[in-house]
Amino acid sequence: MRSSNYLLATLKETPSDAEIVSHQLMMRAGMVRKVASGLYTWTPTGLRVLRNVERIVREEMEAAGAIETLMPMVQPADLWQESGRWQDYGPELLRLQDRNQRDFVLGPTHEEVISELVRKEVSSYKQLPLNLFQIQTKFRDEIRPRFGVMRSREFIMKDAYSFHIDEASLEQTYQVMFKAYQTIFSRLGLDFRPVIADTGSIGGNLSHEFHVLAESGEDAIAFSDSSDYAANVELAEAIPSKDKADPATATMEEVETPNAKTIQALVEQFGLAIEKTAKTLIVHGVNENGDASGLIALMVRGDHELNDIKASKLPQVASPLTFANDDEIRAAVGAGPGSLGPVGLPLPMVVDREVAVMSDFAAGSNKDGYHYLNINWGRDVELPAVADLRNVKAGDPSPCGKGTLDIKRGIEVGHIFQLGTKYSDMMKVGVLTESGKHQNLLMGCYGIGVSRIVAAAIEQNNDANGIIWPEAMAPFEVCILPMNMHKSARVQEVAERLYEECKGAGLNVLFDDRKERPGVMFADIELIGIPHVIVVGERNLDEGMIELKNRRSGDKEKVAIADVVQQLT
Ligand code: ATP
Ligand code: MG
Ligand code: MG
Ligand code: MG
Repeated sequence: MRSSNYLLATLKETPSDAEIVSHQLMMRAGMVRKVASGLYTWTPTGLRVLRNVERIVREEMEAAGAIETLMPMVQPADLWQESGRWQDYGPELLRLQDRNQRDFVLGPTHEEVISELVRKEVSSYKQLPLNLFQIQTKFRDEIRPRFGVMRSREFIMKDAYSFHIDEASLEQTYQVMFKAYQTIFSRLGLDFRPVIADTGSIGGNLSHEFHVLAESGEDAIAFSDSSDYAANVELAEAIPSKDKADPATATMEEVETPNAKTIQALVEQFGLAIEKTAKTLIVHGVNENGDASGLIALMVRGDHELNDIKASKLPQVASPLTFANDDEIRAAVGAGPGSLGPVGLPLPMVVDREVAVMSDFAAGSNKDGYHYLNINWGRDVELPAVADLRNVKAGDPSPCGKGTLDIKRGIEVGHIFQLGTKYSDMMKVGVLTESGKHQNLLMGCYGIGVSRIVAAAIEQNNDANGIIWPEAMAPFEVCILPMNMHKSARVQEVAERLYEECKGAGLNVLFDDRKERPGVMFADIELIGIPHVIVVGERNLDEGMIELKNRRSGDKEKVAIADVVQQLT
C-alpha cells in the first residue's frame, strides 16, 4: 500500500471528548471516526486491525470445531416474544417497525435466531453436539456509550452457540471454548485473565469472563496472590436482564433455578433474619430501565402452603417499583407483611421468573427432603460458601482459601456461559434422543467483543508517541519510510525496490511515499504503531545500508539493503 493512494487520516490534536488513551489514539491514528453517539466509521487503518482480530478469532473458532454462520442483524419481534425477552430486555433493545407496522429489533445478541435455526434444522441427537458461530454487528442502545468503540452502541461481536443432549457434552464444549479463548487472546498479544463471572458456585463453571487488564477497565477483578483464583467483583450483582421472563405470564410453575449467590448475598446484605420455619419468597424486581437492580425479599410467615403459592399467578402490575438505593430496598423488605397471601403480593412490582420459594433456608439445606420445582442449587439448596465480593478490599483473604486478594481493573473482552435449557425450553428447541424420546437441548453461548479488543489492546500497548501494536494486530507489519525521496532518485529507487521485495515476500507493507518532511512521516508512522520501519536515507545508502527501527523497543540497527527483507520474514 502506498500512502499516496491511502487514507491515513491522522490528527495532531487530541479530540477533547476522548477520555481514555485508546479512544484518543484511535482518533489521532485515523482508525475510527464518530458518526453519532456510540456509532463509528472504521477508517482504513482501523479496519485493517479489526480484520486481523476477526481473522484470528475465526481461525481459532474453526480449529475448536465451531462452524461459521451469518444471521441477520434485524430480527422479527415474534422470536423475542417467544423467548420472553421482548418484554424483559429493557431499553438496550432497539425496536423498530417495517412499512407494514411489523415489529423488529436490532439484534443485541442472537440466542433467539440461532434457536429458530436449530429447532428447524436439527432433529436428531446424532447431529449433536453442534457449535455455530458468527462475526456480526450487534446493536445495544447503551445508556452511556463511551470510550469510543470500547462501549459503543453498534459493535462487532463474535458470538457462538452450542447445542447438546446432556450436561457432559455442554461441559466438554465449554472447556474447549475456554481453551480456544485463551489461545485467541494469547495470539492477539494481550495480557488477559479468565475470571469467574456471575456465579462460581452452582455446578461449578457456569460462566467466565475474559478480561484485559488495564487501569481504564470498567470492571474490578479480585485476584488471589497465591492461586489462579480471579473473579469479577460484581459477582453478587443481580441476575442479568437477559435472564428475565415475561412478567405478565410468570408463574411459580416457571420457576427456574435461581442464583444461590444472589440469594445469599441478599440475605447478607439486608441482614434478613430468616427463621427456620419461615418460607421465604424472593422476588426479583425489575426497575424501570429493565435493570435487575432492585431485589426484593419478602418473607412468608405463617401457614401458607407452598402449594398455594405455586398455584398462584404472580401479579401483573402497571408500574414497576424502583428503588433509589439499598436503604429503600431494606425499608421495603422490612415492611414486608407477616402474612403474604398466595395472590396478595402487597407491593406493585414487576417480577420475573427468578423467583424462589424456600423452606429451611436458614439451615442451609433441605433436611426434610423437600424438593420443590426446579430449585436445585446444589440439589437442593445446599448453599455453597459463595464470596460476595462487592465490598472486598485489596489485602482481604481470598475466598479460594489461598492468599490475599489483589484488586485490578479489567476490560471484559470475552464471556462464556452455560445457558442450560433456558432458551430451548422457551422456544422448544429439541431433538429425538437415542431412545426415541423428545428432549430439549442444553445450550452454551460464547461471546467475544471483536471491536472492543482493538481498543483494549491499545490500552495495554502505547507510549507517548502513539500505539505499539502487538504484531498480530498491526495494520501493517512494515513501513518503508524514505527520507526526502522526492529530492533523491537513489532513495526513491531503493525504496521502490524494497517495497516490491516486501510485497513479494508476503509482508503487509506500507510505503510512505508522501511528499512530507521526515519528521511528519515518522510521527504518523509511530502514532499508527507499525512494528517495523525501514528508513531509507542518503547517508546510509552510501554504505549500502538502511536503518531498521523497532517500534516497541525503539532500537535502531543498520542492515544491508540486500538482507533487510529476509530479516523481517
Ligand atoms: P459489558 O459488561 O461491558 O456491558 P456485556 O456483559 O453486556 O458487556 P456480553 O453480553 O457478555 O456483554 O457480550 C459479549 C462481549 O461483547 C462482551 O464481553 C464485550 O467484549 C462485548 N461488548 C458488550 N457490549 C459492548 C459494547 N457496548 N461495545 C463494545 N463491545 C461490547
Ligand atoms: Mg452490557
Ligand atoms: Mg459484563
Ligand atoms: Mg458479559
